[in-house]
Amino acid sequence: MRLGIDMDGVICDFNAGWMARHRDDFGSDLAAIDTEIKWDNLHTLCGFADMEAFWRWAQGSEDRPSVFRHLEPFPGAVDTLRELAGAKHEIVIITAKPDWAVPDTLRWLADHEVPTREIHFRHRKSTVACDVYLDDSPLVLPELVSRRPAATVCRMVRPWNTPLDGAVDVDGWPAFRALVGGL
Ligand SMILES: [Mg+2]
Repeated sequence: MRLGIDMDGVICDFNAGWMARHRDDFGSDLAAIDTEIKWDNLHTLCGFADMEAFWRWAQGSEDRPSVFRHLEPFPGAVDTLRELAGAKHEIVIITAKPDWAVPDTLRWLADHEVPTREIHFRHRKSTVACDVYLDDSPLVLPELVSRRPAATVCRMVRPWNTPLDGAVDVDGWPAFRALVGGL
């Protein structure tokens, strides 16, 4: 099967990554606010005027890479993808990223030897046909459910998303592996 896999909030821990960068830059201690994170409210938690200002900071500079360069993978994420690829599933990476984040995203996938031959940078993820999708975005999940009715759409359960009719809740990588194995 073709497994369409999101990156941030699914394979890699974007929030822990930008918080660590924020701690380095501003001496903050934001780790405890994880459960307050909603979709697009990050700037209110860390002193930026708006999300545009947040992304300008996250983009990095000539002196250092963007926040997407040094994120930690979630436990079990890469190993599970390798198992699924070994079981002859196609790992299709589908990630919504601004242009400036593309090189660091490709470097990250190479660094972690993510087993894929297909990487899409798309905001409308339903344009990439897959049998199963795994995403955490409260904007993307409804789009996938409505545009890909024949597919199994999985919600990676996170504090910033909620259950959705037509989507299957997955609370981590072991659950996703089990779900794919049962299809
Ligand atoms: Mg995501």
